[in-house]
Amino acid sequence: MGKFLGYTALILLAALMVAGSFLGYFLLEGSPPELHVASLPETIGREYVLTVSVRDTRSGISSISACLNQGDRVFELDPKIYKVKEWWRGSGIKEDTVSWVIKPFTLGMTEGKALLRITARDSSWRNTLTGNAQVWEAEIPIDLTPPRIAVKSTVHNIRTGGSGLVSYRISELPSRTGVLIGERFFPAYPKPGGAEDMYVAMVAIPFNVTKPKRMLIEAVDRAGNIARVGFPHMILRKTPKVDTININDHFLEQKMPDFMARYSEFQGSPLEVFLKVNTELRHRNNQEIENYCKESAAEILWHGSFVCLPNSAFKAGFGEERHYLYKGKKIGRSYHMGSDHASFSHASVPAGNTGLVVFADYLGIYGNTIIMDHGLGLFSMYSHLSEIQVSKGDKVERGDTIGTTGMTGLAGGDHLHFGMMVHGVFVNPIEWWDKKWIQDHILTNLSVQ
Ligand SMILES: [Zn+2]
Repeated sequence: MGKFLGYTALILLAALMVAGSFLGYFLLEGSPPELHVASLPETIGREYVLTVSVRDTRSGISSISACLNQGDRVFELDPKIYKVKEWWRGSGIKEDTVSWVIKPFTLGMTEGKALLRITARDSSWRNTLTGNAQVWEAEIPIDLTPPRIAVKSTVHNIRTGGSGLVSYRISELPSRTGVLIGERFFPAYPKPGGAEDMYVAMVAIPFNVTKPKRMLIEAVDRAGNIARVGFPHMILRKTPKVDTININDHFLEQKMPDFMARYSEFQGSPLEVFLKVNTELRHRNNQEIENYCKESAAEILWHGSFVCLPNSAFKAGFGEERHYLYKGKKIGRSYHMGSDHASFSHASVPAGNTGLVVFADYLGIYGNTIIMDHGLGLFSMYSHLSEIQVSKGDKVERGDTIGTTGMTGLAGGDHLHFGMMVHGVFVNPIEWWDKKWIQDHILTNLSVQ
């Protein structure tokens, strides 16, 4: 009997010890949650996304709250409360990440310093009702003033399909700045060799845009405040000519097998392949060209006017609308995004100007192609080459031979297709061969202080 009681007492004691340690470990634990702020803002402006990660491996998280204090005003952000599932195991949530979108202007805050306080609590019973708390505090400036932009350049008469340059000053260091034309953004660069608050943006009016919805200089400061100002401008409409191109069986039989061999998705009769290549592949290649123009040197690599293929005949201009006919029937349409020049076969192709080779390879309808970066977003391209004599990464001087003309890609005869791009937008090269145009429209705007 005594022995039995002894065992019972022992089991009871053991049970109490287990319960005790359970209570001690989970319910009466004294260690507060771990709190981690994902990124600490330098300043908070129009909007800031505050992300906080909290971990409590014992009793679990019971709440995560945050507030901003300015003097005696308190701006509470929506707290996250974790429901207690069972009394013996709290919320059961050991880890979580919460985000708040802080909008000081909407909250009614004023500029100046604010104290950001984040509090995470666990489900421990040690501090009745409140749990163990971990408090994180930081003083953060609130900046609600957008930067001031002062337009400095004056000549902004730009043709459709033409280029331009805008220069301006910004009152504070921007996190992003450039010019918005319609839906396109033309990033600006600190003016090479200029005052540190001066910025320049190469811009372009896409060939098919006659009246852009907006033409604005944009500057975003490090707090996210945005300033957008207009600048005086004039868009000069240019109506390119319409050309007809006859597609015959000889051309199709000569050119399509190469595309069929290279692209498994373009199969069928030579005419069917041509229709796909001329639309889908053209679109894809133009997209690729835009991508190669994403990054540009932050300095002006070019000088003087651009060099054209010497002793050549001008065959087709920029922006021309091309109607394709097959046996007298209209089968398609495209727009010519460069200019065509023909000399003798396999003529030496000079680099239009000094720059860096960013692409030197086969490029679909354009055949063997070289793309060069001339800095600040200005690029040139050379297509249908029979031979490429430079490699990606090469620095090439104005006039250096970079390849030879040919008829690779969708070309019907030996010629050079020369293209120019401003931040990936195809522009009319004619302006860049013209020293006077460059002086009046680019260098004049660049030289303003
Ligand atoms: Zn062409």
